[in-house]
Amino acid sequence: MADPNNRSPGNVIGPYFVDTSCTDCDLCRLTAPEFFKRNDETGFSIVYRQPVSEEEIQLAQEALTGCPSESIGDDGTAAAEADREERGVSPE
Ligand code: SF4
Repeated sequence: MADPNNRSPGNVIGPYFVDTSCTDCDLCRLTAPEFFKRNDETGFSIVYRQPVSEEEIQLAQEALTGCPSESIGDDGTAAAEADREERGVSPE
């Protein structure tokens, strides 16, 4: 499981991130190149744009579940959903 305290440098602010356990296998960049790219200085992938639409989130989620080293995390969506549910607000 990706560790939010170990985010690799260069991730944009937001729920999705890559941590420093990334093995540079390229899978996320092939699955979702709109959100993941390589940080050539560190050799780790990073999230350079956060997914917004449901379709985009699904794609980022696909990259997250496909990552062989479980280096991709989502530390905000679940909490945001729970918050919306608690307040009785439907997403979008
Ligand atoms: S799929 Fe995982 S290990 Fe592979 S490049 Fe992306 S974050 Fe790194």
